[in-house]
Amino acid sequence: MPRERLYLFDTTLRDGAQTNGVDFTLADKLVIARMLDEIGIDYVEAGYPGANPTDTNFFAEKRPLRTCVTAFGMTRRPGRSVSNDPGLVALLDAQADAVCFVAKAWDYHVRVALETTEDEMLASIRDSVRSAIAKGREVLLDCEHFFDGYKANPAYALASAKAAYDEGARWVVLCDTNGGTLPHEVEKIVGEVCKAIPGDHVGIHAHNDTEQAVANSFAAVRAGARQIQGTLNGLGERCGNANLVSIIPTLKLKAEFSQHFDIGVPDDKLQTLAHVSHTLDEMLNRAPDRHAPYVGESAFATKAGIHASAIMKEPATYEHVAPETVGNRRKLLVSDQSGRSNVLAELERIGLVVDKDDPRVIRLLDEVKDREAIGYAYEAADASFELLARRMLGKVPHYFEVEKFDVNVEQRVNAKGERVTVSQAVVKIKVGDDILISVSEGIGPVNALDLALRKDLGKYQSFITGLDLTDYRVRILNAGTEAVTRVLIESADESGEHWTTIGVSPNIIDASFQALMDSIIYKLVKSGAPA
Ligand SMILES: [Zn+2]
Repeated sequence: MPRERLYLFDTTLRDGAQTNGVDFTLADKLVIARMLDEIGIDYVEAGYPGANPTDTNFFAEKRPLRTCVTAFGMTRRPGRSVSNDPGLVALLDAQADAVCFVAKAWDYHVRVALETTEDEMLASIRDSVRSAIAKGREVLLDCEHFFDGYKANPAYALASAKAAYDEGARWVVLCDTNGGTLPHEVEKIVGEVCKAIPGDHVGIHAHNDTEQAVANSFAAVRAGARQIQGTLNGLGERCGNANLVSIIPTLKLKAEFSQHFDIGVPDDKLQTLAHVSHTLDEMLNRAPDRHAPYVGESAFATKAGIHASAIMKEPATYEHVAPETVGNRRKLLVSDQSGRSNVLAELERIGLVVDKDDPRVIRLLDEVKDREAIGYAYEAADASFELLARRMLGKVPHYFEVEKFDVNVEQRVNAKGERVTVSQAVVKIKVGDDILISVSEGIGPVNALDLALRKDLGKYQSFITGLDLTDYRVRILNAGTEAVTRVLIESADESGEHWTTIGVSPNIIDASFQALMDSIIYKLVKSGAPA
C-alpha cells in the first residue's frame, strides 16, 4: 500500500529558544541543526534573522544541511511596502531554503495588537509570500492564534490561510498559539480548513498548555494535515511545544500512522532518538526527564518481581514497543520489591556472569534491601548498584584510599568590605605508597570536596580527566531529629555516558562524599584502570 508523505518541521531553535532559561549560542544551534538533519527532519527552523546577533549570524551563510533550513519572521508591516520594511528585507536576504512568515489569524489581534484592518493584514500576507517566492524561497505561513481566531471569526481566519495558499505558499500552518484548544476541536477545525485548502499544504503547530500538544498534532493529521511542527523534548515557552521525541516514534511504531504515512526518519535513526534527546538536555545542562515517554530512563522500567520474571520470558507482556527501537533499554529495577530475577537481569545487563543459584545473588539482594531500609535508592543510582554488585563478587580493585578529609566553611568580610562565604576542602589520599594532599576552594563545601578529591589521584589522574559532575540532588528523609540526607550525583564523561551514584548519611557532606567516591571509582572501573 503506498503511504502518504507526512512532513516534520522542527522549531527547537526558534520557538524552543523562547523557553525560560534557554539561551543557545551559534555553536549550539549548529550542533542541534546537524543532529536534526542527521535523523531526517524535513524542516529546521533555525531562528529569526534580524532579531538577535546569533540568529542573524546563523543565516549569514548557507549551511550545508540536507534539511530545508527555514528562517522565521513577520509579514510586512501594515502601511509599508515590502522594500520599505527593513525586517522583511533582512528576512529575504537570509541564507535560508525556506521562509516561515507569521501572521495574525485572529481578527481581534489584527485590530488590537496590530491596529490595522483585516484587508490590510491579508494584503500584507499576499505581498510577503509573493516577495519570498520571487527570491526563490519555499514559503510557509504560521497562522498565529488560528484556532481561537477560527472560533471567533471563521471567515477571517480561513481567509488569512487562503491568502497565503492562493499566493503560492507551500504550507499554511495552523497554530494553537495559546495552547488551549482540545483535540476534538482541532480535528473538527482542521477538517473544515482542509475543505478549502488541500491537507498536503496544511500544517499543525500545537502548544502544550493542556498537555495535549502531541494529541492535538495527531488529531490534525487525522483531519488531513500533513505537516507537524514541534520541538525536541517539547521545548518551548510556558508549557512547551508538541514534543517531536514522542511524536516521531508514535508515527513510526503505531500501525494507525505507520501503515498510512511515511516520514523522513529511517529506522536506524529512530534508534538514536534517546541519545538525541539526552544530548539536548546535556547542552541545556538539565537532568533528562526520567519519565519521558519512549526515551526516559523509566520508560521501560519495571519494579515488581513478578513482572520482572514475565518480562525476562516475554518482553511484549509489559512493553508497548521494544525499547531498542528508540535507543532506550529495558530496566528491571533493583529495589525493595524486587526478587532474585531482577537482580539476575541487572547483573546480566552489567555484564557480570553469575550462576543463578550462586549464594552471592541472595547476599546482594539482602544487602540492597538492608541499605534501602536506611535510605538508599538503587533504582535511581545504577552506578552505585553496579559497584555494590562488583564488590560483592570481588571485582573492584582497591585503587586508592582517602585517609582523611577536612571541609571548612568560613564567612567573613573581605578586603572590599563585602561579606563572603568561602568553602575549602583538604583531602589526604593514599595511592600505593604515595600520600597525596590536595586543597581546593569551591562554590560550596561539596564543590570544594569534589574538586579536592579529583585534583590529584596520582597514577589514576589521567583516567578521570573527562569526568564531569552534571547534577546534584539532595533529599532529606524522615523529617525531625532522625533525618538522614540522601544525595544523588549524576556524572558524565567524554564518551557521553551518564551514571548516577548515591550516598546516605545524617551528615550531608558525608553523604556527598560517598556519592562522589562511587562516581570516581565507577569511572575508574569503566575505564579499565589497573589496580
Ligand atoms: Zn509557537
